[in-house]
Amino acid sequence: MPFSDRLLMGPGPSNPYPEVTAAFTRPLLGHLDGEFIALLDETCDRLRAVFRTDNALTFPISGTGSAGMEAAFVNTVGEGDTVVVGVNGVFGKRMCDVAARCGATVVPVHERWGLPIDPQRLLDAHPNPTVIAVVHAETSTGIRNDIVELGAAKGDALLLVDCVTSLAGIDLRLDEWGIDIAYSGTQKCLGAPPGLAPLSVSPRALERLLKEPRSWYFDLQMLANYVTGNVARAYHHTAPIAMVFALHAGLGVVLDEGLEATQARHQHCGDLLQAGLLERGYDLIAPSANRLPQLTSVRVPESRLPNGYTEAEVRAELLNRYSIEIGGGLGDLAGVCWRIGCMGHSARTRNVTMLLGALDELLL
Ligand code: PLP
Repeated sequence: MPFSDRLLMGPGPSNPYPEVTAAFTRPLLGHLDGEFIALLDETCDRLRAVFRTDNALTFPISGTGSAGMEAAFVNTVGEGDTVVVGVNGVFGKRMCDVAARCGATVVPVHERWGLPIDPQRLLDAHPNPTVIAVVHAETSTGIRNDIVELGAAKGDALLLVDCVTSLAGIDLRLDEWGIDIAYSGTQKCLGAPPGLAPLSVSPRALERLLKEPRSWYFDLQMLANYVTGNVARAYHHTAPIAMVFALHAGLGVVLDEGLEATQARHQHCGDLLQAGLLERGYDLIAPSANRLPQLTSVRVPESRLPNGYTEAEVRAELLNRYSIEIGGGLGDLAGVCWRIGCMGHSARTRNVTMLLGALDELLL
């Protein structure tokens, strides 16, 4: 089968930046080679810049975004701990599952999928939770959940935030907002392939890490000896070298463009796409005040599907005829919405124009 040249405008992965593709295929180094360690250190510095944090423990976990989620929970909660979790989409739900598997008591705060969670409801949900957890950018609905109020009023709780789809795409300030643990993924607004989960832990959270987390691989204290600080680099596991090259390059592209300029590009493309969809009479799921630019959820226009086509067949046609991938709905929104990503290298005005043109041709 020939290599395809897809335009990836789904909920992820986005198309990698060309610099990332080049870095991914460069000759390998050994994982304890000084040259690799220097590149890993620089990658961690670059992550601090995009997370806007001084946290010493900031590094990419080996594994996809969900590995970041596991690492965040398994090191902070166990039996006897209470975790308040905001649930307005698939990934809030996943956080509940992960926290429960760590043995914690989970207090979910549900909101209708497609609406943001009122931060006050999370703050009021329990008098003294160990952790308050929320997804910043809910990829399953296109909603931004507000974080600032949580950091300001979290009290003794640790604030744990899923930044998989927000990092580098929209404003995110770990230190200023009082976020204690954040994790992300490489395949969204960082414009790298999936495979690493950037993670950052505040000094406050570091003091409270469990001594013996129920995971060997994700034990942050063991990992810290390998990936950060001045201690001798002890072998922990073989880092996915090529992925670190790719992440390093993706972060380089973002920082060369400028973090604010990268975020502005995402905003501009999201605005353009959403205005184009609204002009054509499509219905957007997320309310404008909390609508993500990098992930637009649009109600499936049932009355405009070509004769006899299901929504899935329209997406397949978009892929086969135009080589453009968009995503279907998940969970409560399966079959109800399409999810269109404008992330990383895919966040370009010409891609928006191409997609809108293709929809004009395909739909009634
Ligand atoms: N959290 C959010 C908000 C996501 O969008 C995703 C993936 O799309 C994940 C977590 C899980 O990440 P991964 O699929 O890379 O494991």
